[in-house]
Amino acid sequence: MLQAVEFATPKVFMRYDELQAYDPESESWQKQFARRYTHHAQLNGVLNHVEDVNETVYNKFAIAVTPYMAKLMDRDDPNCPIRMQYLPSFHEETKPGFATMLDQLGEEGDTIPGTSIVHRYPRRVLFLVSNTCATLCRFCTRKRMVSQPSGSVHKDEIEASIDYIANNKNIEDVLLSGGDPLTFTDERLDEILGMIRTRAPHVRFLRIGSRMVVQLPTRVTPELCAVLERHRVQMVNIHINHPKEITPLLRKRVKMLQKAGIMMGLQTVCLKGVNDSVEVMRELFMQTVEMGVRPYYVYSTDMVEGAHHFIVPHRRMLELYEGLRGWISGPAVPTFIVDGLGGLGKLPIIPSYVREEALPDGSGTTVKCRNYAGKTVEMPGLGQDFSLPSVSN
Ligand code: SF4
Repeated sequence: MLQAVEFATPKVFMRYDELQAYDPESESWQKQFARRYTHHAQLNGVLNHVEDVNETVYNKFAIAVTPYMAKLMDRDDPNCPIRMQYLPSFHEETKPGFATMLDQLGEEGDTIPGTSIVHRYPRRVLFLVSNTCATLCRFCTRKRMVSQPSGSVHKDEIEASIDYIANNKNIEDVLLSGGDPLTFTDERLDEILGMIRTRAPHVRFLRIGSRMVVQLPTRVTPELCAVLERHRVQMVNIHINHPKEITPLLRKRVKMLQKAGIMMGLQTVCLKGVNDSVEVMRELFMQTVEMGVRPYYVYSTDMVEGAHHFIVPHRRMLELYEGLRGWISGPAVPTFIVDGLGGLGKLPIIPSYVREEALPDGSGTTVKCRNYAGKTVEMPGLGQDFSLPSVSN
């Protein structure tokens, strides 16, 4: 079985005063990983008003919080947007009759047997390499595998996955995800990326999805950047849900990745109580483009077990989108997405700014457009086909 880093260092949990004095750059990322909080009782010495959840919650989905993330949490406010993402809540006990499911994305149906490859779209694949993350998000869409013993990715599955990519010449885009691929050591990443590049020269775009950059920024080191640069990883997508997660340390380590020639993208999950506000989203996406990171997707919270309390109705998601488009820089506006049930894939949630109507005299149609501020204009030309007759000699 292939494991991401598991460190034998004894666990020593920092209490509040120690955490305040703690400098995450003073020790290796591996030591910080080993010092994660893994029970809410451990966080009682750090934060106030920690919910004393029933431990059956843990049986379904473990808790893990890096000291760096714990330090970003508000000590007294249970509604702190970072606490809400990572601390277990009594809401996680599934509501009777509420239809939750463990694989909303229908990934298992598109998984190639014997591999950890999800092949849904014709020319790109998702390669799930790890089932571990630095900090576990309570709304995780892959709870069925992340931090679950049954979700561990075996070494032979990794090898079979690379065989599959090498043997399918139509695959031009490979996304490494998990879990978090950066939980691997540099050496193991070097090996996996090297095999993809050597055995599958038809892969044109190689990217990594990682929240570890945000949850444990010191994971980004010059050595890691050298590995990514050597194997021409073109894009790293990070995951941030609230401006509070953007710190000077994160900015510094993102810059390090950018200097290695890596394009940076952002994905966000729309979470009730965390970021379902126009002001929060405007600030988040403007801070992100300031860093040179392009907001890419805002996902609807998936209907996974124990995450129903985070779901934002799609009507509200449309309002949030309208609060961004036109009000902040165009490149700062991401696409809003819901993952369709049964493996339908990513479906855009976008309000309509354009309406085509039939002309009263039946002679054709006209198009009515609305701008970001609600002003409308009729554009009759858009309802017509101006294609020219072909010219004959
Ligand atoms: S970082 Fe991603 S994969 Fe890991 S727990 Fe959070 S949402 Fe799930």
